[in-house]
Amino acid sequence: MRCHRLALGLGFCLLVGTALCVLCNMQLQYRGERPFQPVVRTQYPQPKLLEQRPTDLLTLTPWLAPIVSEGTFDVELLQSIYRPLNLTIGLTAFAAGKYTRFVRRFLESAEQFFMPSYQVCYYIFTDDPAAVPWVPLGPGRTLSIIPIQKHPRWEEVSMRRMQTISQHIAQRAHREVDYLFCVNVDMVFRNHWGPETLGDLVAAIHPGYYAMPRQQFPYERRHESTAFVADSEGDFYYGREVFGGRVDRVYDFTRGCHMAILADKANGIVAAWQEESHLNRRFISHKPSKVLSPEYLWDHRKPQPPNLKLIRFSTLDKDLHWLQS
Ligand code: UDP
Ligand code: MN
Repeated sequence: MRCHRLALGLGFCLLVGTALCVLCNMQLQYRGERPFQPVVRTQYPQPKLLEQRPTDLLTLTPWLAPIVSEGTFDVELLQSIYRPLNLTIGLTAFAAGKYTRFVRRFLESAEQFFMPSYQVCYYIFTDDPAAVPWVPLGPGRTLSIIPIQKHPRWEEVSMRRMQTISQHIAQRAHREVDYLFCVNVDMVFRNHWGPETLGDLVAAIHPGYYAMPRQQFPYERRHESTAFVADSEGDFYYGREVFGGRVDRVYDFTRGCHMAILADKANGIVAAWQEESHLNRRFISHKPSKVLSPEYLWDHRKPQPPNLKLIRFSTLDKDLHWLQS
């Protein structure tokens, strides 16, 4: 008897439950949403690097990627985690034409500050291998000079950087390195750059736009370009001077950018800031898993703001260097 009543009770509960579910679904469908599917939000407030406590930077993006800056990590702890992994880190830079003059300063500073005590492979792409100087390297660190075609116009080479890097990864770097950073050569390392920067896909916030509303970011705004970004889109404006990540992810990233550049080319359009526009477009739909604060990409002409405790990598005074050489 008691069993019978229990069964009846259970049956009733099931019936009511099912009816409720059906009702809920009907209501959801009525509102134009499909039941039990996450709603994709394409519009959300812009994350702001500043506007925390006066001298603090934001430390986490809304998609839960850390934003790396001094004070957010423990160097010793990270070393104890990453050192035993025996990782090899690649670093690419282009030095075509006159830019071979930057290689020495660049490599010397990297030897001092870039991933010290790790295995590092430098890849310098150049149209003039003989002009690349010999720089003494620490143990476990190698330099490869990779010839690229000479072009009278740098823009030609520049627009092919994404392609060149992706091909280099496919042909070679995927076997040689675990992580790969791609940077500009007319820059110098000025402070420690360590394992805190390692992540699946890494972007760096551009020093010129970290305190601006996204509507003022210099994205490509023409619909005809594959790099188009709407006013309501965008997280941070990232610089083309620095990006990286796990070598397979950098492959996908550079290949994706190259395809978008090719599509634009076929349509006779060049994005506002060339690869930087495409890089920024892609980082909106393929979010970086780690974001580097402008400590890792600074413009030496700008005074160091109080929010930045140190500068790790920044542009070199081009004219000064030009005069000296
Ligand atoms: N570059 C080069 N030869 C050139 C011009 C540029 O090798 O004649 C490479 C170099 O690696 C440089 C990068 O392209 O760091 C970016 O060029 P540039 O510094 O002119 O532009 P930015 O990205 O700083 O606006
Ligand atoms: Mn530059």
